[in-house]
Amino acid sequence: MVDAGFPPVPRPEPTTRGWGRYPVHGLLFDFGDTLVEEGPFLPGRSPLIGGVAETLPLLEGRYRLGLVSNTQGAVRSEVAQALDALGIGRFFSMVLTSSDIGWRKPHPIIFEAAVASLGTPPERTVMVGNSLSNDVAGAKACGMRTVHFRWSPRYPHSPADEEERPTLVIDDFVELPYALERLEAFPSPAPRVREGGEVENDL
Ligand SMILES: [Mg+2]
Repeated sequence: MVDAGFPPVPRPEPTTRGWGRYPVHGLLFDFGDTLVEEGPFLPGRSPLIGGVAETLPLLEGRYRLGLVSNTQGAVRSEVAQALDALGIGRFFSMVLTSSDIGWRKPHPIIFEAAVASLGTPPERTVMVGNSLSNDVAGAKACGMRTVHFRWSPRYPHSPADEEERPTLVIDDFVELPYALERLEAFPSPAPRVREGGEVENDL
């Protein structure tokens, strides 16, 4: 095996069956406290969370990457500039913020708009985020599989209910490539619907 230098991502066990039955084509990332620390951080220190800069290049060739963020007024061009300033803008094919669309996560509208913009259907798209209530529950309600990035003690680590239960959990960003391979063995959750057939609207 060629040593790619980084990271020492464990491979699926040879005896494991079923990898790739439910393939993943697109990844949606949360921004704050998923890719960048929301602070406080020391001057001169990168706000990128450890492992992000090393891991995104491993994902870009295999998945289409997008970003969906709740912001306080910042629109997609401003977040895209921030990504560029952090040196990771080139990895993302789309950015959508709550200020662009007028709806915040976990509302289904922002997730539906995000997957439409990314160009991959919900059942082939995975949401990666630190928030069980916003990222996991919202994306799950739209039929996406989810990865909970459980690195910060500032947020709940345990789901409050079944709607917040992620498909998989990672504690370190460098675990993500392997988690995504594992995740292909899991089918997507059924989207949450009303009796009338519309996606349920909690807000
Ligand atoms: Mg967040």
